[in-house]
Amino acid sequence: MKPKEILSNTPLTDDDDHNLFSYETPLRPDAFEKDDDLKIELIEKHFREIMHVLGMDLSDDSLKGTPRRVAKMYVKEVFSGLNPLSKPNSKLFDNKYNYDQMLVEKDITFYSHCEHHFVPIYGKAHVAYFSSGKVIGLSKINRIVQYFSKRPQVQERLTVQIAEELKKLLSTEDIAVVMDAKHMCVSSRGVGDTNSQTGTAHFSGKFNDQSVRSEFLNYVNSSASK
Ligand SMILES: [Zn+2]
Repeated sequence: MKPKEILSNTPLTDDDDHNLFSYETPLRPDAFEKDDDLKIELIEKHFREIMHVLGMDLSDDSLKGTPRRVAKMYVKEVFSGLNPLSKPNSKLFDNKYNYDQMLVEKDITFYSHCEHHFVPIYGKAHVAYFSSGKVIGLSKINRIVQYFSKRPQVQERLTVQIAEELKKLLSTEDIAVVMDAKHMCVSSRGVGDTNSQTGTAHFSGKFNDQSVRSEFLNYVNSSASK
């Protein structure tokens, strides 16, 4: 997966977005007043209603468990990253070996959902940083990508959220995040383009340097990657 076109540090401009220049997911202050069980119960009820309106026979064996199944999947799996309690605990280690070059974690698979259509966005994330004294367990980078993916998202915001979280965690501005993704709302409906892919990127600190950025992108696009 090669990024065809990279939108560097794309400003978040969503017509309907009230928080135009915020990279935070727009959540209400009372977002977590209801516990998960109550949310599942309410979503189940509403999803049953959607299926009913569509004319489906909910007494059918194959369909009757669907509303609850969808509700559980929303709350416990695909949108579990809305809840700050799901945030991975990222333990840092001292950079004992004084590794002072770029560290790249590439081809991190992620699954998210487009917040405009609630259908999947999926692809690969490529992350790099320079240590400012601390290093992070490699699998934690994957977990951070997955945590922010498990929300209704736009790819631009997802990219920035991952980058900003890593900056905070690792106390450095030297972070790069590139994401290549397929949007089911583009491929399976609407224009029905199954081949297009969306690339987003966030570069900061040392990655603003053209040669450092190229080193990273060359590695990401190298033959080991598809
Ligand atoms: Zn969409």
